[in-house]
Amino acid sequence: MNELQEMYARMGIGKQVYEYGEAVLEKLVSRFQEIDRTAEYNQMKVVKAMQDCRVSEACLLGTSGYGYNDLGRDTLEAVYAGIFHTEDALVRPQITCGTHALALALMSNLRPGDELLSPVGKPYDTLEEVIGIRPSRGSLAEYGITYRQVDLLPDGGFDYENIRAAVNERTRLVTIQRSKGYQTRPTLSVEKIGELIAFVRGIKPDVICMVDNCYGEFVETVEPSDVGADMVVGSLIKNPGGGLAPIGGYIAGKRECVENAAFRLTSPGLGKEVGASLGILKDFYQGLFLAPTVTASALKGAIFAANLYEPLGFEVVPDSSESRHDIIQAVTFGTPEGLIAFCQGIQAAAPVDSHVTPEPWDMPGYDAKVIMAAGAFVSGSSIELSADGPIKPPFAVYFQGGLTWFHAKMGILKSLQSLVDRGIVQLPVEKDKN
Ligand SMILES: *Cc1c(COP(=O)(O)O)cnc(C)c1O
Repeated sequence: MNELQEMYARMGIGKQVYEYGEAVLEKLVSRFQEIDRTAEYNQMKVVKAMQDCRVSEACLLGTSGYGYNDLGRDTLEAVYAGIFHTEDALVRPQITCGTHALALALMSNLRPGDELLSPVGKPYDTLEEVIGIRPSRGSLAEYGITYRQVDLLPDGGFDYENIRAAVNERTRLVTIQRSKGYQTRPTLSVEKIGELIAFVRGIKPDVICMVDNCYGEFVETVEPSDVGADMVVGSLIKNPGGGLAPIGGYIAGKRECVENAAFRLTSPGLGKEVGASLGILKDFYQGLFLAPTVTASALKGAIFAANLYEPLGFEVVPDSSESRHDIIQAVTFGTPEGLIAFCQGIQAAAPVDSHVTPEPWDMPGYDAKVIMAAGAFVSGSSIELSADGPIKPPFAVYFQGGLTWFHAKMGILKSLQSLVDRGIVQLPVEKDKN
């Protein structure tokens, strides 16, 4: 046994699991190289934007009170605009999460009588209440903003005919979700998003095209704002926060769209001028600096898991060879025991709370018990290694993250060890090497 293997053994990962993992990894060398090249490009994109904006030591300090003339905050927003190639950006700790950022972008850019269109099917769960698909207090529907949806075709393609039919004189904003989130439809590549935006513009040139960019940042060398999106929106406790941002959201886009959002976030008349950054800016800058490599680590973990579990007979989405456009991986176990064992293995690999055992619980808003594994430095951060799934057929787990590739690898091996230990999985018997 070599030194590394011994260390894995001390972490509870046996020889058989370790060797199975190494054999899987041998086939992934060229894909990992491709991911590294993207990260290399994006690393320079981030540093270039920081240099162009003359980020200085003073930018790392914060303001208190009203936060007038907050150099660090205003410069950070210029850096985001530089990375996304947009006119402006709003990047704030006062934006509490991804859902808040998306709600803000929608509510500030739509007016009573306008219609919102999703041409890519049902949006992320939490947006159902923002839009009013599920009746909810304060929803867009309550303010007289209507909603229309065109589902993707069975093969995952755009239903151009019905999108054309859905666009009307009231259509003001089109929302496009990049990541599949927790659905089984494919995640959209930036190129595909560009095609869809061009099509919508062909029908109605002045419509606002917004992209829910959650989980997609830095996965490719281009972002939706490079292919025509007027606004890209996301969460800082996912990819762009690099694991260091403890809170926050961003909206990057056309000046008018971003200003509308700022006047809604703070107040008409105040907009971007207020909003103290307190002591948070260093983490925002440093997290953004790390985000390209952190995203690459999470991507490698997702691809490793797909290639580890698919040959064992479990359905994986995306599959082992598909190209990647976000960091989420689904694995279907078919039994509650498989799902639970997986999540408990992930938890046991965490740097924080590894000694606790996650159990299924009745989470508000869900119709089945849910199990969640996370031992994160930032609570709820899903750029850190984490997994969850509802205890109902087909017993699929959704997992994502890993601040470093080595941690993602260890967590995934630990999940497999947990399944092996409980007799749920039998690894292919190795031919005797001696
Ligand atoms: C995570 C996510 C959201 C919501 O973000 P929260 O920070 O959980 O509120 C919205 N859309 C997509 C696609 C997401 O992945």
